[in-house]
Amino acid sequence: MFTSIAGRAVVVTGGTRGIGKGIAGVFARNGARVLITGRDAAAARSAAEELSAAAGPGGEVSYVLADVSSREDCRRMAAIAQERLGGVDVLCANAGIFPDGRLEDLTEDDLDQVFGINLKGTVLSVQACLPALERSGRGRVILTSSITGPITGFPGWTHYGASKAGQLGFMRTAAIELAPKGITVNAVLPGNVATEGLATMGEDYAAGMTAAIPMRRLGTVDEIGYAALFFATDEAAYITGQSMVVDGGQVLPESPEAMAVAEPGA
Ligand code: NAP
Repeated sequence: MFTSIAGRAVVVTGGTRGIGKGIAGVFARNGARVLITGRDAAAARSAAEELSAAAGPGGEVSYVLADVSSREDCRRMAAIAQERLGGVDVLCANAGIFPDGRLEDLTEDDLDQVFGINLKGTVLSVQACLPALERSGRGRVILTSSITGPITGFPGWTHYGASKAGQLGFMRTAAIELAPKGITVNAVLPGNVATEGLATMGEDYAAGMTAAIPMRRLGTVDEIGYAALFFATDEAAYITGQSMVVDGGQVLPESPEAMAVAEPGA
């Protein structure tokens, strides 16, 4: 078994719903003290209440309203983590958006919004938590990237894919710079996960994606949470600058014939 992470101070950006809420829930059920962030007060309050009620011994979940694309908000988030949790052992930089838009139509505002939240927000949240992560002595940064961008493409997501691939570029150099401080930096690359955000893409999108996944189902938020939890364990201390794909095999088929073998009953 892995060494318990009970008592660790964990910050999960975008932890008020979807994958971030799944990550926060997995950590809290394992006894971590978790601070989740988001911009919507009602969603944040209800997620913190729900996750706290299900927390394991010693576990707790509270929230702070903070926009990851603002340096000031990220600093406030880190200050509140210091005040409430006594520091930051694990930062899960998860907040992200995935609006779609064809390349020819993307405006500067579209680019600023997606890069500002997904990429700049990742850098700002890591920067803000750095002093606390260094004081931890076993600091962990876990990014939520995606298969889209680093491995695959999907029409409408040039800007999104670039932001998710950009997170991995950031990760590789950050991992080198932060290794002497005892901080690891790794990424989880989810495939298609059933979240509130994904639901906005519609049923046809979910059905099309399910058909392209050898395991024939979307991922759950807990399945991403457990991958993040692994990177936070003591046993993963020697892993840094790496990414873990959690996608039910979605990136594997080379052709429709490969998927035919994965047909139920084939
Ligand atoms: P979601 O259901 O829409 O949840 C997004 C979360 O991020 C919410 O808590 C949201 O809260 C928060 N957020 C958004 N913008 C923010 C900002 N500027 N500052 C702080 N928090 C912000 O999305 P999801 O599907 O869980 O996706 C979460 C992450 O997983 C993203 O990075 C996404 O790229 C990645 N991902 C998702 C999938 C998937 O299939 N779902 C696949 C691959 C990667 P507020 O709106 O209240 O701020």
